[in-house]
Amino acid sequence: MTAVALVLALTAPVLGSGPDLTTPPLEAPVIVELRPVAPPRTPPPTPVTPVQVPTEAAFSVEIAASAVQPKPPSPVVVQQPVARVADHADAIARARSAPNGQLPRDALCPIWDGTLFRCDMAAALESAAAAGMPRVNMTDGYRSYDQQVSVKASRGSWAAQPGTSNHGYGTAADIPEPARSWLFRHGADHGLINPAWAKTEKHEPWHWELAN
Ligand SMILES: [Zn+2]
Repeated sequence: MTAVALVLALTAPVLGSGPDLTTPPLEAPVIVELRPVAPPRTPPPTPVTPVQVPTEAAFSVEIAASAVQPKPPSPVVVQQPVARVADHADAIARARSAPNGQLPRDALCPIWDGTLFRCDMAAALESAAAAGMPRVNMTDGYRSYDQQVSVKASRGSWAAQPGTSNHGYGTAADIPEPARSWLFRHGADHGLINPAWAKTEKHEPWHWELAN
């Protein structure tokens, strides 16, 4: 009998709250009225997004365009300037496996003046510059096969047969003074040499290569 009393006692409050439930429904409409107000706030961010889309699209177009122009004079570089040769191991390997004058441009590294080289050559030049070699503008760095053809046409016997120049491997630099004189004293310390042929058969004191 006592249990029944308790059940009734518990049921009573529930039933009693019945009438109270009538109140919330009245508040519900208020919430519904607030929701319509929210939508107007959402649109503002939406217009902002369309503005960003064209910008990203523009960048994509630039990237796409730059990726398609490996031959134009203006160098398109994907590799970052050399900080550590180890960071460019993959790029160096790709450049080593490519035919003379056909190195992937995105496998090349720029030095201070933007001239491109195989990344270990760029690192050797940066190493020399960091040790005191004047940061002059290079006369020449990597040469594509087409560039070697035009150089051969303009310089004749002074230029290598197209497809054989170390410039085509990205490991040669034509360096003006005063950097050149500095290299004759310290170049070997940075793996840079003025090869024997450049001292004898052809006197090219400006031509420096990676030693190995
Ligand atoms: Zn040269």
